[in-house]
Amino acid sequence: MDFQAKLLIQVIILVTGTSAVAWALMASPMRIAPRACWRYAVANVLMMLGLILNTLRGDGPSYVAWLGADLSLLAGIVMLRLGTVFLFRLPVSYRMDLFLWGAAALAMLLVSPEESSQQFLAIVFSLAAAAMFARLAMVTLQGLSPSTGRFMAMLLVAPVILAALSFVLRLGFIFYHEQAEERFISIQSNQALPVLWFYLVLAIAINVLAFGNALTRLVQKIRMLADRDMLTGLWNRRSAEEVMKKLHYKWQRGGEGYALVLLDLDHFKQINDTFGHQAGDAALRQAALVLSHALRDTDVLCRFGGEEFLVILSGANIKQAHQVAEKLRTCLEERALRWEGQDIPLSASFGCAVVMPGLSVSQLISSADNAMYQAKAAGRNRVMDSEPQVAS
Ligand code: GH3
Ligand code: MG
Ligand code: MG
Repeated sequence: MDFQAKLLIQVIILVTGTSAVAWALMASPMRIAPRACWRYAVANVLMMLGLILNTLRGDGPSYVAWLGADLSLLAGIVMLRLGTVFLFRLPVSYRMDLFLWGAAALAMLLVSPEESSQQFLAIVFSLAAAAMFARLAMVTLQGLSPSTGRFMAMLLVAPVILAALSFVLRLGFIFYHEQAEERFISIQSNQALPVLWFYLVLAIAINVLAFGNALTRLVQKIRMLADRDMLTGLWNRRSAEEVMKKLHYKWQRGGEGYALVLLDLDHFKQINDTFGHQAGDAALRQAALVLSHALRDTDVLCRFGGEEFLVILSGANIKQAHQVAEKLRTCLEERALRWEGQDIPLSASFGCAVVMPGLSVSQLISSADNAMYQAKAAGRNRVMDSEPQVAS
């Protein structure tokens, strides 16, 4: 084996080996997305193994050095995809991966595992690798897009797409290039240096991308913890206040106004006291579900406090807010909570308010709150509007 080629192969082994250790550390003591990180670790081990086995290729036939090396590398790409699938909690399915890997293995078994078969083996390997990298690119795109946007996700996935393309290109070279053997098939001669450099960059780029994926996922999780109410999955009060601030700012700059509907479940304490806290939690979840189904996607629904919910209606006036509240009131009333064989009726009292000149966000919330208390005082399970306020 040529010295430079050997050195580069050792560097790639070092990179994949170190990456494997890093991923294992993330998975085990740090417990960051362990199921995904373990797979990324195994992927690196498989790629390292593939390369080591590759260096064993000699004159005689050897299943380990020829098929073992290629199939180990392919399994590594499959593991990268599975890690990404687990990381972003995408639907898990191994079938296509098994099929591709199995088909490659079967095809490779058709020839004798030695140098004279290397062109055929390289073709099978490149086909499978191209398909597997394309699949890796797809899941990465799917996982990243929601938080980075489609364009950014495309940029980040570019190295994987390039990898897939490079294997297609390699196929072309194997067929048409005169020196294909030294340059694109065997990796042990100095002629193969560009290919080895490419492998090195690929190993690094893929690990960096996987690390970026893990980070994105972590940020997604933190964001969810910060923005969402854990019991109901609705936006929390902090997020609602941010939305109101933005709408208020827009309205003050001459944009459209917005209205609030604040609602508080009636006699909620009784549910807790009679049926237990679990029933109370179930009632809150059911209320959240009923309310969100009755609203449009553009309406913002949040859990504002214990058993209080707030709806932010962009562009609505007081009359429209009242209509929405009335609809929510009837929907809640119609769907009793089924709890241990009993029906527990739910209802809520509603207060509506619309943005007015001179009112701050917190004053607007107070006026919706006042209207809601009037609804309570008037007998509950009803909708009240806040008194129009004169500009101060
Ligand atoms: P009203 O009709 O006047 O609103 O009466 P209410 O019983 O609904 O109001 P009150 O403020 O007396 O009681 C609210 C209760 O909501 C008290 C609190 O223990 C309960 N609560 C607040 N958050 C949660 C929660 O996350 N889960 C459960 N199970 N109960 C909660
Ligand atoms: Mg309350
Ligand atoms: Mg209440």
